[in-house]
Amino acid sequence: MGPARLVLVIPCYNEELIIFRTYIALSDYYNTIKGQGLIAEDSRICLVDDGSTDKTWTIIQDLCSKDGNIIGVRLSRNFGHQSAIMAGLEKHANDFDCFVTLDADLQDDINAITAMIDKHSKGAMIVYGVRDNRSSDTWFKRFTAESFYVIMQKMGVPLVFNHADFRLMDQRVLQELGKFQEINLFLRGIVPLIGYQNEKVFYSRLGREAGETKYPLKKMLLFAWNGITSFSIFPMRLVLYFGVANFVIAMMIVAYILLSYILGRTVPGWTSTMLPLMFFNGFNMMAIGLIGEYIGKIYEEVKGRPRYIIEKTVNA
Ligand code: UDP
Ligand code: MG
Repeated sequence: MGPARLVLVIPCYNEELIIFRTYIALSDYYNTIKGQGLIAEDSRICLVDDGSTDKTWTIIQDLCSKDGNIIGVRLSRNFGHQSAIMAGLEKHANDFDCFVTLDADLQDDINAITAMIDKHSKGAMIVYGVRDNRSSDTWFKRFTAESFYVIMQKMGVPLVFNHADFRLMDQRVLQELGKFQEINLFLRGIVPLIGYQNEKVFYSRLGREAGETKYPLKKMLLFAWNGITSFSIFPMRLVLYFGVANFVIAMMIVAYILLSYILGRTVPGWTSTMLPLMFFNGFNMMAIGLIGEYIGKIYEEVKGRPRYIIEKTVNA
């Protein structure tokens, strides 16, 4: 068997400031590893434009017209990082042997791909890129990101610590990935569920070369919340814990009321009626709210909407 046909899938959202630099770095790197015989000659780089509103797509089209190694895919609107990755992967699921996903901003060290390919050729079906150094991130980003992994793991989500979406997958893994039909895509949680032999490659995370993060705090929190509610019943279990505690307290109050009644000490008063009533009503509202969160998820999944719609494809 010759070297694997590789496709690099890169989601790009408003990356006009960096996309060209990324292209140069990647095509240099591709030429090198092709020369070394690590990947097949017909390996490609797929740039997925996630409904950018800047010149990203124009630049991608331009690159496609000059370089046959580049495949451009444009989504009809902004579907989000995870869906953009999925679009690029599924588009090529049958045409390549292995797939690497990588952010457009070159924060992940592309040279780590060499080690990924090496591990793949030795039988690994999934190779996770793991950041072993976050010194380039701000204190805040590092703190929030690492807390995210710890909390998620505590809640039972099968995450690989400090691994984002820089990973290699074999074609077989991709076939399986396609069977996960959920719309609330959280690839970091889904991929470990697929199983198969997997390996890790460590690299240090660099700073963003240009442009701004497309994950401001609000999006980051939403992403974490989505990850938790898609993979963990912990929040709902918390409601159960509260419920049990409340039940125990309620029973104690009932005992107190009964005792008071038997001893003929007092007629149950307004306070002892209204207080628990108010309290439990309040609690019920919270519980219903949380359960509603999950019902909302079921609702979204049941609708079976497409994850993305490709508007056009260049050099496919
Ligand atoms: N991205 C995307 N769609 C979005 C948001 C981000 O395709 O709605 C892409 C973005 O262009 C980049 C990658 O996802 O290639 C990661 O985003 P970013 O680097 O801004 O996130 P950070 O590294 O700051 O967490
Ligand atoms: Mg980034």
